[in-house]
Amino acid sequence: MHERIRKVEKNVFDVVIIGGGIHGCASAFFLARRGLRVVILEADYCGRHASGVNAGGVRTLGRPLAEMPLTLASCDLWHELNDLIGDDCGFVAQGQIKVAETEDDVQTLRDRVDLLAAHGFNHEVLVDRQTVRELVPAISEHVTGAIWVERDGFALPYRAVTAFRRAAEAEGAVVHENCRVSNVTQGASKWQATTNQGAFEAEYMVVAAGAWSGGIAQTIGEFLPVTPGGLMLMVTQRLPHFIKPVVGATSRGLSFKQYDNGTVVIGGELNCGVDINAGHAELDFSRLANSAKIVTDLFPFLKHVSINRAWSGIEGYTPDHAPILGASAEASKLIYACGFSSSGFQLGPASGQAVSELILDGASKVPIDGLALSRFSLAAAA
Ligand SMILES: Cc1cc2nc3c(=O)[nH]c(=O)nc-3n(C[C@H](O)[C@H](O)[C@H](O)COP(=O)(O)OP(=O)(O)OC[C@H]3O[C@@H](n4cnc5c(N)ncnc54)[C@H](O)[C@@H]3O)c2cc1C
Repeated sequence: MHERIRKVEKNVFDVVIIGGGIHGCASAFFLARRGLRVVILEADYCGRHASGVNAGGVRTLGRPLAEMPLTLASCDLWHELNDLIGDDCGFVAQGQIKVAETEDDVQTLRDRVDLLAAHGFNHEVLVDRQTVRELVPAISEHVTGAIWVERDGFALPYRAVTAFRRAAEAEGAVVHENCRVSNVTQGASKWQATTNQGAFEAEYMVVAAGAWSGGIAQTIGEFLPVTPGGLMLMVTQRLPHFIKPVVGATSRGLSFKQYDNGTVVIGGELNCGVDINAGHAELDFSRLANSAKIVTDLFPFLKHVSINRAWSGIEGYTPDHAPILGASAEASKLIYACGFSSSGFQLGPASGQAVSELILDGASKVPIDGLALSRFSLAAAA
């Protein structure tokens, strides 16, 4: 009995975070840094799912308006990661470029830049055919222009999650892996999470469980419109260096980058089926073949290059493809950071900071109103 009481006391924290992806680990870091006792409960191991297996794109380019303040704040943090957490996470600011392959594409990009300008954003810059060639000399002749974002780039996903986790631990956060939350309840003064490693209590709870977040919200009777989906990537053999920026296309799904070791990682809207209970996303080889075709259209000299490996990850999607970041509509002292809809790696640092400010200051310094859960009920009512 005495042992049991000690154990319960040991498992009492200020904040319980469910999920050890980039969002759980970054939130833990910013909370612990400001003195809170934080625990991460991770069903598998930190970085096992989307955060550790993604394409590493650090992209402000092409974001929905509601995400704009957060993505720009996150971009600043990516540039300062070494000072912040003692690891640059392999981030290289080699830019991201979205190319136009037709006149219609050029018009789409013009409209996009105009829209951003009307809202006071000027980080996405329209460039002409000649500039595209200077930035990406190997690109196909049919490309006629692009949007260019110089401060974007890419990083190493698993290293980034691990760096945030280690930085959080250095600030006193506790991490429990192989610790699956099966139920959450709110008592008079504390949240309780039931797991296979016992119960954990805290005044605040953060749900950062990626594609599984909706299931956790359901245990307190709250509906989160987060649907699981699979995403695939493939990687080529090592090649001589031929490209620096990350390349995307305007009207076809593509994200394409060459890492320091010479391999080229190819992805971009490569969806596949998912078994959420098994934690498995099934590779779809016909879609991968389509994507390879887009790559060789844009870089014809890659026609005879081998694909060495393909893999998949599981992501949580919302109906408008923007995340849910903010307070629960049903319960007090409950924060959601989920539904990042295939582009949440870049948002990790600023989202973690926003979660810490919601808990400690009652509001995020960066405006995140457009990411509130309530937008879905307001839209439904309208
Ligand atoms: C193939 C692929 C490519 C992508 N490319 C990019 C990109 O280039 N750029 C970009 O910005 N974004 C990209 N993304 C999206 C990005 O990876 C995700 O948006 C982001 O990693 C989500 O982070 P997260 O912490 O919310 O979720 P996750 O990393 O999924 O972490 C959630 C964690 O919660 C844990 N968990 C779930 N249920 C429970 C439970 N009951 N108890 C305890 N723990 C639980 C899981 O085990 C998991 O580790 C990509 C995603 C994929 C899959």
